[in-house]
Amino acid sequence: MTRLAAEAVAAPGYASGSLWIVSEHTAPSGPDSRPAREALDDALLRASREIAQLQSRSDDSDAAEILEFQIAMLEDETLIEPAWQAIAHGSTASDAWREAIDAQLAQYLDADDPYFRARSADLRDMKERVLRCLSGQGANAIPPGSIVLARDLAPSTFLETDWQEGGIVLLEGSSRSHLAMLARARKVPLLIGLGSVAVDGTPFALLDGERGELVLNPDGSTRAEFAARRVHADQRSAQADAAPTPLQTGDGEAVKLLINVADGGELAHISARQCDGIGLVRTELLLRSAADLVDEARQVDAYSAMVRWADGKPVTIRTLDAGADKPIPGYTLDEGNPFLGTRGVRLSLAAPGPLLIQLRAIARAAALGTVRVMVPMVTVPAELEAVRTLLDQAIDELTRAALPHARPQLGMMVEVPLAALSIESFDADFFSIGSNDLVQYLTAASRESGRLANLQDPLHPAVLRVISEVVAHGAKRGADVSLCGDMAADPRCVPGLLGTGLRALSVAPAARLAVREAVSAYSRTSVKARPN
Ligand code: PEP
Ligand code: MG
Repeated sequence: MTRLAAEAVAAPGYASGSLWIVSEHTAPSGPDSRPAREALDDALLRASREIAQLQSRSDDSDAAEILEFQIAMLEDETLIEPAWQAIAHGSTASDAWREAIDAQLAQYLDADDPYFRARSADLRDMKERVLRCLSGQGANAIPPGSIVLARDLAPSTFLETDWQEGGIVLLEGSSRSHLAMLARARKVPLLIGLGSVAVDGTPFALLDGERGELVLNPDGSTRAEFAARRVHADQRSAQADAAPTPLQTGDGEAVKLLINVADGGELAHISARQCDGIGLVRTELLLRSAADLVDEARQVDAYSAMVRWADGKPVTIRTLDAGADKPIPGYTLDEGNPFLGTRGVRLSLAAPGPLLIQLRAIARAAALGTVRVMVPMVTVPAELEAVRTLLDQAIDELTRAALPHARPQLGMMVEVPLAALSIESFDADFFSIGSNDLVQYLTAASRESGRLANLQDPLHPAVLRVISEVVAHGAKRGADVSLCGDMAADPRCVPGLLGTGLRALSVAPAARLAVREAVSAYSRTSVKARPN
């Protein structure tokens, strides 16, 4: 039996199962041992076989048409020719392919004809697929119910995996990453910072997300003790699920407790009676392919299911916040500094076709209940206004087509320091503070880095001051202000947040009980922003 201690628990809970090691991806670091031309031609062939397979499994005619277009492009020699020429001049296969397709993409995005602009997403998707084939990366093959051991894991891989009783142990990782957020929301235990470890085969393992421990080949008494503690933890979490709203501070002030969701799968385990609605839908975790972005019917179904679930309570749907650590193959850009790059609304407005479709779908779901649309990564008022213009267009189109719909309120995330510090210049119906990014950008410390955790202090007086200003502005204007970053879910941060005047928190469903306890224990006379 081997016991290994992790640096931190990013998502609590217990898991047991076979260990599955995700090896570092096998991208060739130097030139491929094969001639570059041969490597590229092989990758093109593999990519078109993969697409043909997807096509044969798809019963949706729109998706089939998109895939057919991609296959045609992969066989189009005029598109591939510049890459072959670059290879002849000494480029690697990946560089040659990337540059050739990026040049085409720029032309597609500049085109006046909307057909070409719409097709740019397909071109990107195809570019990424070929690059993946060139790097030798295969599709996700994690067996259901595994305990995954990896250096780090992409949110998309998380969402594609059937976790059952399984969990995740990362050699590195950060508790502020999107992966950590998803793991908490889905109750998949996650340990981070295991350092290095040498493991042979796929031993049976216990993941103890209370003690922060991974136990390999446990003996009988360790298994029995583990099982007993797990039963106790399950009882506590059942208590959280039974907790009723409304919520009050110790002084009797009402506090709204909303939940954050990704693709809506989490809603199967919770009822709308147990919260004040949905404060954040991270739609980039629901729409994970270029084809999803233009599939209005699928989006209407997914959003409508959330609105029906909410039973009259508000559902706040965030427009796509793709980019940085949430890439969408075929849609997001390859950039050197992606957290400071074309992500969120910046990307949505660069080629607004998918955003218009998303706004139409949100407005159609709004016919069934209270829906609010929220824009991520807003920096300047012109971005919010550009989305408003698209929302006007969406409403206009739906009215002309006589499709049932309603106009949702339009609000914004406050997560870029510039926007937070000039909040009075935004004409938003409501504000939601994205403390994960706000803290990352205020401290210039990546939310992905466990090593910089000491700098990412959400209770720093400067952070609380910025939050207070946004809250005060909302109160003055009569606009709702909530906070949907991870800070809201951390009981140690709750007194500091309530001290700013904030009275609406949106948290991962699994964090509700701990947050309820912290809110009920708060009173103005016993405030202490920073715990000892
Ligand atoms: C945030 O930045 O706090 C937030 C809620 O958005 P995300 O974590 O999805 O970037
Ligand atoms: Mg954010």
